[in-house]
Amino acid sequence: MSDALTALAAELAACTLCAPRFAATATGHSPRPVPWFRSGARIVVAGQAPGMRVHKAGRPFFDPSGDRLRDWMGITAEQFYDRDRLSVLPMAFCFPGYDAKGADLPPPPVCAATWHDRITAGLGDVALTLLVGGYAQKYFLGADAKGGVTRTVQGWRAHAPRVFPLPHPSWRNTGWLKKNPWFAAEVLPALRTRVKEVMDG
Ligand code: SF4
Repeated sequence: MSDALTALAAELAACTLCAPRFAATATGHSPRPVPWFRSGARIVVAGQAPGMRVHKAGRPFFDPSGDRLRDWMGITAEQFYDRDRLSVLPMAFCFPGYDAKGADLPPPPVCAATWHDRITAGLGDVALTLLVGGYAQKYFLGADAKGGVTRTVQGWRAHAPRVFPLPHPSWRNTGWLKKNPWFAAEVLPALRTRVKEVMDG
């Protein structure tokens, strides 16, 4: 790992900017940032924020969403967690807590505003970026994502092969996947081909 990103990951791991915000949630938890990036990784997974299981484990996508994402990508957990090949850049590095309905709260915008520019500057040449869910799509695609996740993912050809917008792989989107069979039929084969190309490259 480059010195700059090693130091940055350590700095991020100690971040407590959102402590008051998290203390006010139902879980009243403390910040536990989960940095997972290394200079030279050619794939970046830009997601939403850790869920409770990732918060406890300290490892990104260490949950059923991660299993589904790895299946979409056609790679093993061992490949996914190889930081020389893949970095994870969520819109927030800590679990944000739950809303009144038990869904995860949105990622605090202060996180990306504080950390992203410094991390992306240190990542180097990224061959493939996965924009997982609406928050990452709005952040990276701006006006191109304003039609919502379904339209943005439907327009994947405008961004491929370097960028793939994807729905969030959460169980909450199982209904979406059933309603949109074109995603498995068209997007996933192209995604797997691109992931393999970059992994093997
Ligand atoms: S979410 Fe981001 S900004 Fe907030 S405490 Fe965690 S690392 Fe810091």
